[in-house]
Amino acid sequence: MHHAYLFTGPPGVGRRTLALRFAQAVLCEDPPTPGAFCRRCRSCRYLEAMLTRDEDVHPDVSLVRPRGRALGIQVDQVREVRQILARSPRMGRYRVAIFTDFDRATPAAANALLKTLEEPGDSALLLLTATSAETVLPTVASRCEQVLLRPMMIEDLARALVQRFPQEEDRAMHVAAWAAGRPGYALRLLRDADAYARHAAWLEDIPRLLQSPMWERFAYARQLVKGLSRSDLEKPLLVWAAFWRDALHLSMGHFLPLFHPERRALLESLARQIPAEQVYGVLQHLLDAVVRLHRYVNPRLLLEDVLLKWPRARALWLPTEQEAPVAGLGG
Ligand SMILES: [Zn+2]
Repeated sequence: MHHAYLFTGPPGVGRRTLALRFAQAVLCEDPPTPGAFCRRCRSCRYLEAMLTRDEDVHPDVSLVRPRGRALGIQVDQVREVRQILARSPRMGRYRVAIFTDFDRATPAAANALLKTLEEPGDSALLLLTATSAETVLPTVASRCEQVLLRPMMIEDLARALVQRFPQEEDRAMHVAAWAAGRPGYALRLLRDADAYARHAAWLEDIPRLLQSPMWERFAYARQLVKGLSRSDLEKPLLVWAAFWRDALHLSMGHFLPLFHPERRALLESLARQIPAEQVYGVLQHLLDAVVRLHRYVNPRLLLEDVLLKWPRARALWLPTEQEAPVAGLGG
């Protein structure tokens, strides 16, 4: 086992859950087999409470989250954890510190953690989560064992969701695709009506933005960043990236399952108007923006830059208007 792990992957893929389950396996007092956990011992019950109710109850597990909407993980949070890790564990062999969204650590906080990563001590275990290894300080990433979490196959996720929510089969299939195979995000869409409505609204904004002149797009960017934190802004970017990925597959004539099959008519009309290379450029630019978002770029400038890259569409088939294409604002 290593002393530090970095779990990376898109938000909602299960990074925090995996970190907590990993801690559960390491700290279990009565493991049924090596590397497994029993779910019944004192340590396991504390960790179940952390997982399901977000309660910080395990005496040997420190869970550090970004502080507030704008601030991120601060240097004093890292210093506090360093002091805790230096003490011997209360229950088992390890003291575990879990830093979620470490790509939102300030440079001072990331540097403060470096010393611990270099000399962690025998009983310290550090678990970090981030969107990708590129979004954290390279010296931090290189001192961690990296575990990349990929989204699940949509069909596998849909099957697992239907098993868990048999009475909501249609919605389960639908959110598995919307979440692009990210189980945590799919569960949120199923359980949280607001999250579902926000996702739907970001999708509905796409055809409108594509037909809007730049000044309208900039007004939209100003409005959107006003209501969202830096890490929240990642969510619409990922929703849009999934949409553009669908457009790319259609424009290249691939027959792969779409993330947004309910928007096929819109996607097809887009694929007919915009060359595949340009669609690819938009998608790549969006994915770059997700990485740049974590480098303290001004969120509004970033969003304006994203929308500048989007082509102007002439007329688009909208999912609600099956009869005739909606007239665009000109091109
Ligand atoms: Zn246990």
